[in-house]
Amino acid sequence: MTTKHNWTIEEILDIYNKPFMDLLYEAATVHREFHDPNTVQVSTLLSIKTGGCPEDCGYCPQAARYHTDIEGNDLMGVQQVKAQALRAKASGSSRVCMGAAWRNVKDGEEFEQVLEMVRTINKLEMEVCCTLGMLTENQAHRLAEAGLYAYNHNLDSSEEYYKEVISTRGFEDRLKTIDNVRKTNVTVCSGGIIGMGESTKDRAGMLVALATLNPQPESVPINALVAVDGTPLEDQEPIPIWDMVRMVATTRIVMPQTQVRLSAGRTQMSREGQAMCFFAGANSIFAGDKLLTTPNPDVNEDMEMFKALGLNPQKPFVKKSQPETVESQDSKYQALGEKPKWSRPGHKIERNEEAKGKAKAV
Ligand code: SF4
Repeated sequence: MTTKHNWTIEEILDIYNKPFMDLLYEAATVHREFHDPNTVQVSTLLSIKTGGCPEDCGYCPQAARYHTDIEGNDLMGVQQVKAQALRAKASGSSRVCMGAAWRNVKDGEEFEQVLEMVRTINKLEMEVCCTLGMLTENQAHRLAEAGLYAYNHNLDSSEEYYKEVISTRGFEDRLKTIDNVRKTNVTVCSGGIIGMGESTKDRAGMLVALATLNPQPESVPINALVAVDGTPLEDQEPIPIWDMVRMVATTRIVMPQTQVRLSAGRTQMSREGQAMCFFAGANSIFAGDKLLTTPNPDVNEDMEMFKALGLNPQKPFVKKSQPETVESQDSKYQALGEKPKWSRPGHKIERNEEAKGKAKAV
């Protein structure tokens, strides 16, 4: 089977809406052709800089404009990150993903610190991923040189529904950052969130946007919204498990080689529900009791589930070899101090405005 890149919404909807058993069977068959069905990648997500973000993503408790209960923190130190990475490694994680609540990366001291974190974790023989917001081509090269394995930049939803969730940047900015990452040897991790009030067509639209990238992302996280009080999406009802399984299965079929990650929302799923997702092609999870700021199952619970299902954690660098780390003094790429003009569409989203108003009142 070769990877198809010209998917249409109609084709993806036809897959998503198949009778459930047929969909599961097809997805599991594709999964077995490309992956070991009993191996699941375990990643640990570290929030290296929490809260105070200037963006208005309707699902996110880290946006400064909404009033949520999260505790913000400044950029963590390199040694603190190293200690957490070692703990993650000891509990079975092969990848550390570092997230900073930034609109985009700015050249300067903090970025240099992140580059040092990347070098440090790569030397621990773990895959290093970052999610830092929008990125220029030069910054992508600098991360690659430091030994970054993957860069996460989610498309979140379809291009149409994106405008209903975020007003402070455009969908095309996301694609531009992904394109910048593609100019390096860093792999791309990009997915989205379901349960934000989008239609099935929007879900298919997001998968079209991802599956028509060439190459397709090496990793696609599928998140179920965790509705947090104070955010514009606080009243969204949790999605039924069937939707999650359908989304995972469809992602597996249209992006056969990618690692499909069962991400946020696992605390709302039963083990049986998660097992169905693994059968349908999910082969990656986040471990640790927190996903940035929202709850996640405890790592021991996950290991018990792995035991019950006979799953094994994936070793690092099985899909691609470990990148080399270039020390800062030997670096070919230097900070350019660029000030790129990322778009600010600035349209108004009523529920985002309401949440901002409520926060002001508090
Ligand atoms: S999702 Fe990221 S960019 Fe959006 S508000 Fe949260 S931290 Fe900021």
